[in-house]
Amino acid sequence: MSLGEGSLFPVENLPFCVFSAPGDGRRRVGVAIGSYVLEAAPVCESRGLASEAPALSAGALNPFLARGPVAWQRVREALAEAISRRSEVEPVAGNLHPLSDVTLHLPFEVADYVDFYSSEHHASNVGRIFRPDGDPLPPNWKHLPIGYHGRAGTVVVSGTPIVRPKGQRKRTTDPSPTFGPSERLDIEAEVGFVVGSGSRIGEPVPLDDFEWHVFGLVLLNDWSARDIQSWESVPLGPFLGKSFATSVSPFVVPIAALEHARLAPPPRDPPVLPYLDDSGKPPWGLDLSLEIAWNGTVVSRPPFRTMYWTPAQQLAHMTVNGASLRTGDLYASGTVSGPSGDERGSFLELSWNGSTPVSLGDGSERSFLEDGDVVTISATAPGANGTTIGLGEVTGQILP
Ligand code: MN
Repeated sequence: MSLGEGSLFPVENLPFCVFSAPGDGRRRVGVAIGSYVLEAAPVCESRGLASEAPALSAGALNPFLARGPVAWQRVREALAEAISRRSEVEPVAGNLHPLSDVTLHLPFEVADYVDFYSSEHHASNVGRIFRPDGDPLPPNWKHLPIGYHGRAGTVVVSGTPIVRPKGQRKRTTDPSPTFGPSERLDIEAEVGFVVGSGSRIGEPVPLDDFEWHVFGLVLLNDWSARDIQSWESVPLGPFLGKSFATSVSPFVVPIAALEHARLAPPPRDPPVLPYLDDSGKPPWGLDLSLEIAWNGTVVSRPPFRTMYWTPAQQLAHMTVNGASLRTGDLYASGTVSGPSGDERGSFLELSWNGSTPVSLGDGSERSFLEDGDVVTISATAPGANGTTIGLGEVTGQILP
């Protein structure tokens, strides 16, 4: 049995991370294989890719991301070959660290951060909750992927505690706003896309160029204070209700590992403008199966394949006005919600704004997060050679 076989981190996956080993604070790039992290730079050096070693010795993935798709592929192939060849495990063995021993860091310095709103089921649920008498979807929703610019500097790695945000809230029955800790703290289960190669200002990135710019994806929790959000975001978009923290998984799964997860997105009706029209092109829908655990109880299994807008369309839209991309840009899918009641990606939807609380394994009931609660989002996808590959997990605990 080869290294990683049968695990969610087989050689077909090779997600990238930044780690440090015990007693050695040096951060460097590695890939997960089975229950280990393989340090990338020395293995590449021993396999004739010494030119890639400096970028892989950095404390963040950004220098490697900036090397571009040809380098990404060469490094991926070199690491896979080193792992697969049992007779040449020597450079591998000395550079394997048990995952349970290492510290995993924020894998890349986040440049700009954008969050979309691309699940039709999520957007419709939110519309039905807050505008029961109106159309569930706003009139622009099926013509463009709606998004907003978030706060890059508060993106944190999985495991970072989340301090309950304070701010202004105003219930409909309150005559004026009050100040205090959010009483309606929520999650949004999402997938984040990581830009490797930048683009020049004034030059839109077409649908076909997605793979030249986007290196990989992470799991993402867009923590959301619903009471702060609903009071502040009229008429502009999300601000302090979301900017206090966004958590990402420590592993960036390369797009190259997801070739077998690609599938056609749901049919587009009405037809979209030419720069968003992906009909007849290889599809960028992705068959990712998410799972949300609340204090250890699985409360939802959102299917990413139901997302209306694909990451390629989101990238094309984000740059169609000439806005440029930078290495380390992160853009998130928006809350992933499927059509069923047990496929919703936020607690706002799962509890239907508090009217149908969620039962947890310990017998307690919840609508929104309480102090001490732990939320863990994980995901899997079909990989090459009949494998199932993992995206790892993004977890966080709420502190008062
Ligand atoms: Mn979001």
